[in-house]
Amino acid sequence: MAISFEIPDYVQQMAQMASFLAQTYMRPYARQLDENEHERPVEFINAIWPILRDQQKASLDKLVMSSNGGNGGGEQSEKKKRSSTRNLQLMLMVEQLSWGDAGIYLCLPSPALGGFAIEAVGTTEQKLRLLRRFAEGDKPVWGAMAITEPGAGSDNSSMATTAVFDEEHNEWIINGEKIFITSGKLALEESNGLVIVWATVNKEAGRAGIKPFVVEAGTPGVSIGKVEIKHGIRASDTAAIVFNNARIPADNILGSPEVQATKEDKGFKGAMATFDASRPMVAASAIGIGRAAIEFVKEKLAEQGVTIPYDAPYHKLTAVQRDVLEMEAQLRAAYLLTLRSIAMLDEGLHNSLEASMAKVKAGKAVTWVTQKAVELLGMMGYSREWLVEKWMRDGKINDIYEGTGQINTLIVARRILGYTRRELA
Ligand SMILES: Cc1cc2nc3c(=O)[nH]c(=O)nc-3n(C[C@H](O)[C@H](O)[C@H](O)COP(=O)(O)OP(=O)(O)OC[C@H]3O[C@@H](n4cnc5c(N)ncnc54)[C@H](O)[C@@H]3O)c2cc1C
Repeated sequence: MAISFEIPDYVQQMAQMASFLAQTYMRPYARQLDENEHERPVEFINAIWPILRDQQKASLDKLVMSSNGGNGGGEQSEKKKRSSTRNLQLMLMVEQLSWGDAGIYLCLPSPALGGFAIEAVGTTEQKLRLLRRFAEGDKPVWGAMAITEPGAGSDNSSMATTAVFDEEHNEWIINGEKIFITSGKLALEESNGLVIVWATVNKEAGRAGIKPFVVEAGTPGVSIGKVEIKHGIRASDTAAIVFNNARIPADNILGSPEVQATKEDKGFKGAMATFDASRPMVAASAIGIGRAAIEFVKEKLAEQGVTIPYDAPYHKLTAVQRDVLEMEAQLRAAYLLTLRSIAMLDEGLHNSLEASMAKVKAGKAVTWVTQKAVELLGMMGYSREWLVEKWMRDGKINDIYEGTGQINTLIVARRILGYTRRELA
């Protein structure tokens, strides 16, 4: 597939707006919200909500248009063109916002991972019904997705949360516990949001029996457990969610309730489709953090008279100059892989391999680049006076959630070598 590296003007404009928000409302509060975990940038959230809500509304309008089969000429075909760069727009915005502050970016009101799951698995009716709450109203709303459990991290097949159908009341009954859920508290306790909860309807069926359910704020039997105190992205809310006979309507199962136990992984396939869309965004966030670190290092080196010559032969470079060039090269490689996975997503192509490649590369690149930045800046790199040490802490999460670096490397290897999950575990 050919990829155009030209970014259309209207996409650039969105990225510029995100850059403005990042510089004005995020970077100046980065340290304060890092030092005071669980404090929210309330004013910023309230100010940005109408912008995010309107974007969500535009996205929903496109969904309505495509579900009505509309793709005529003139204004409609312009809208269609824009919808085919939807993920590119999001990627560049995520990169800019994460440059501002990755923790604050994660606590901005949006459907987040929950939205990716709804789009990947939900029926058109469910998409319109569930995503509407993020596209209207005066108060911010959050979404989340809950897969991880105390006994099920990378290996989701050991998931213990159950969903049992109660025919008499036409409801699903959910029991279990999910942990480390990004924006879990914001979605269920602090707004009229929702969480997509993955639970098994048939333990015998393994992954095939795992299905996504929509749990809305205010559902009896749902409570927030431990709220994590973290190493990085401390402005982001990470919470446990406990389900104790939580009853949800029958049509709050996303997609089909059928268990296709004969074909491996059918039930959990929706989670993989969710990750195909979300992993490139994790990569974009990593790239934003990495860029912040590199720009800062170059600025500090320039103050000491050290610049980076891009046209000098390798043997004429100092060790520090080589380090900076290597940092830029690593991040650039991650950016290009991410762009590729996003271009495929926007084209409607299957991008599992490319999404995992981008995520692995960006997670490793940001981890290495930010550590190198701390190293190059010496004592001050380690001091809380500057944000570099914070970027080192913030960056690492991109190598952990939505599939660790090791798990995504396994996915890449399986796809390239043609092995199944059982053959290469
Ligand atoms: C801040 C934060 C936010 C999160 N947000 C969410 C969220 O919103 N929703 C959600 O559902 N989850 C979330 N998670 C959970 C996250 O997705 C898991 O931490 C991740 O999937 C890894 O699971 P684990 O921590 O149980 O590690 P484990 O699975 O126990 O793995 C431990 C180590 O072993 C390695 N490993 C495991 N299996 C293999 C293998 N087969 N081959 C090689 N190496 C292997 C892993 O790579 C890792 O390094 C979040 C986690 C954090 C820290």
